[in-house]
Amino acid sequence: MEKRLIKKDTLADIIAKMAGDVLVYAPVKEEDNVLFKVLEAGMKPLTRYANTKNAPKNFFFPHTEQMMKFTRTEKGAVFAGGEGKSPEAVLFGARPCDARSFVLLDMLFDQDKYKDPFYIEKRAATTIIALNCVHPPYSTCFCTSVGGSPTSSDGVDVALTELGEDYLVEFLTSKGEKLLKYFGDVKAGDAEVNQRVQIGEQAAREIKSHIPAAEIKPILDVNFEHPYWATIHQRCLACGTCTFLCPTCHCFDISDETKGADGVRIRNWDSCMFPLFTMETSGHNPRPTQKERWRQRVMHKFKYYVDNFGAIACVGCGRCVMYCPVNIDIRKIVEDISRL
Ligand code: SF4
Ligand code: SF4
Repeated sequence: MEKRLIKKDTLADIIAKMAGDVLVYAPVKEEDNVLFKVLEAGMKPLTRYANTKNAPKNFFFPHTEQMMKFTRTEKGAVFAGGEGKSPEAVLFGARPCDARSFVLLDMLFDQDKYKDPFYIEKRAATTIIALNCVHPPYSTCFCTSVGGSPTSSDGVDVALTELGEDYLVEFLTSKGEKLLKYFGDVKAGDAEVNQRVQIGEQAAREIKSHIPAAEIKPILDVNFEHPYWATIHQRCLACGTCTFLCPTCHCFDISDETKGADGVRIRNWDSCMFPLFTMETSGHNPRPTQKERWRQRVMHKFKYYVDNFGAIACVGCGRCVMYCPVNIDIRKIVEDISRL
C-alpha cells in the first residue's frame, strides 16, 4: 500500500488540478452551508470544515434519476436507456462516517440477488478520498457506537490524515492508487502510520456521544407493539429532513411521466416519514400515523438491516440530530429502547 506526505497548504490545489481531468465532487461553501457539489473549473474545495450538511449519497443515488425513456408508437412502445454511462469521478473530502455509508448502501443496492445498475455503475466509476477526523467535529458524532471510528477506512480508497504541517496520504485500494500521480513523490513510512494510529485512538476517545445501538436488536425483536412507540412521534412534522440528510436512508419511489407519446420513468427519493409513502391505491395505509412511521425508521435501521445484512443502517454522523426542526434525537430513542 503506497503512502505519501504532502504539505497541507497544497491539498486544495491538488484537488482543483484533479478536477481538470475528472469529475470531482467536493465540499464547498454556499451561503452559510458547507455542501458537496461538483467542483467546477477554477473552484477550490474546502479542506478545513466540520462536515457537510448534505450527505454525499446523491452522487450514487441521485435525488431524481431518469431510469428510461419510452415512446408509444402504433406498433407498441419503444424503450431507450437511462441517462447514459457514468463518467469517471472522484469524491473528495468524505468524512469516515459518510464513506462508511457507501459500504452499507452497497449491501442493499449490490446484493447477489438484487442488483441496482444505476447505483452500481456510479459507485464503480467513483474513487473516494476521505478526510479523517483528527478531532470529532460535533458533540453529536457517535460513529464509534455503530461500528465506525473517526479514522475508519471502510469504503475509503484514499485516506488523508492531518499530521502537523502535512497530510499523510494512504492509498488503500487499486482504485485509489490510480490517483498517486497527483500527490507528489515524498514517501511516508511506518512512523507516520503509527502517528495516524495514535491520532485515531485519541480522536475516538474525544467522541462524547455513546449509545447502546448494538444492543437494542433483541429488544426490538420482541417489542413491535410496545406502548413506547406511541411516545416518540408526537412532535414530528413529517418533514423528511432526517431521512433526506441521512447518508444511509434510501427509500425511493418510481413514477412514469408522459407528454404526448413520449415518457420517462423517474426514480425520486421518498421518505418513510411521509404519510403517502405507504399509501395504497385503495386508500388503505398500513402505516397510518407518524407512530408507525417512526417505528419503521427505528426498526429499519437497528433491526431489519441487522437481520438482512448484519449491520446497523446508521453511521452516527448526527445530521438527523442536528437538523431535525423539532429536536427529535435518535440517540435518546436508542437509549430509551435499551431500557424497555
Ligand atoms: S426531521 Fe424531525 S420533524 Fe422532520 S420528519 Fe424527521 S423527526 Fe420528524
Ligand atoms: S440516522 Fe441520523 S445519525 Fe444515523 S446515519 Fe442517518 S442521519 Fe446520521
